[in-house]
Amino acid sequence: MKYTTRILDDSKESVAFAAGLLNQGEVVAIPTETVYGLAANALDADAVAKIFIAKGRPSDNPLIVHIASMDMLDGLVREIPPLALKCADAFWPGPLTMIMPKADVIPAVTSGGLDTVGVRMPSHMTARTIIEKCGLPLAAPSANISGSPSPTTAKHVLDDMDGRIPCIIDGGFSAVGIESTVIAFENDGIRLLRPGFISVEDLKTVTDNVLIDEGVLNMLDNDAVVASPGMKYKHYSPDAEVILIDSDTDAFRDYVSHHADSDTWFMTFSDGDLEGLDVNFISYGTTDSEQAHLLFDVLRRIDNMGAKTVFARCPKKTGVALAVYNRILRSAGFRVIKL
Ligand code: AMP
Ligand code: MG
Repeated sequence: MKYTTRILDDSKESVAFAAGLLNQGEVVAIPTETVYGLAANALDADAVAKIFIAKGRPSDNPLIVHIASMDMLDGLVREIPPLALKCADAFWPGPLTMIMPKADVIPAVTSGGLDTVGVRMPSHMTARTIIEKCGLPLAAPSANISGSPSPTTAKHVLDDMDGRIPCIIDGGFSAVGIESTVIAFENDGIRLLRPGFISVEDLKTVTDNVLIDEGVLNMLDNDAVVASPGMKYKHYSPDAEVILIDSDTDAFRDYVSHHADSDTWFMTFSDGDLEGLDVNFISYGTTDSEQAHLLFDVLRRIDNMGAKTVFARCPKKTGVALAVYNRILRSAGFRVIKL
């Protein structure tokens, strides 16, 4: 244990303390509207290297750089595509990351060795105040051990990062609950690299030309050339084995009644779906946004209850639910049973 990890509230004093640590090249976990981030000075290679060590993150998986103003963006990229400006107008501050050609100030460790950088302007007030207070763009991936479910509370962060970082700022339960939408620009259009709360339908209000990258919903070969390195890795997985069940409510109920045992848990949309069955179950919400908000918390809770196997009801594949589907598909290692 390198550090005694402190959880601090989001008061002015705590924010000033966190900003001080960031200015000294330390790593601090901060709340954002998507999930908790593990933040460090994006321009300081040594500080960013500490993020990779704390998470156990593969070094070729680039980090998203968080800013608080458009002025901050200018120094970080070589060029801002006109479509990026339109997207910034429509969705920033908010849960959208845009990939752009990186300026030399961004060290290779931050961009995973790529010539591009992903930038996001969060809407969470505490995140914004911390960025403003330290005056630095912050590299901040999700504050979990690489591969495990992303953290949506300060307690989740502590469970993964205790002893690995000096400080966590507690901003309550993350409102969105899943990571940002990641997009790149090409041929006057948008390529979706990771779905999030800003949906394909939202992006289409800016341009009709939105392409969903193949890696969003398909398992890629180990040696595939990917548009976004994060697509290659196992992600969001609890210790329990997760299997998706793509079915209607009746077929799901029937499947559950034939596969229940004490080590098995079922993730359903609402309690009513499995009413009357004597099985271990946990609901993760009926609406797209509820599912996004609860998914990672539920995956962590299931582990804490000692589940060995989890059969999860499959979300929709449109709107915000596409992002929920993308995450849960990866936690399940792409195993889906279609009924
Ligand atoms: P996380 O930090 O855990 O939210 O993951 C960040 C995601 O953004 C990963 O899937 C990365 O592969 C992706 N990403 C970040 N920067 C870039 C970039 N320059 N090009 C493509 N994908 C990126
Ligand atoms: Mg992550």
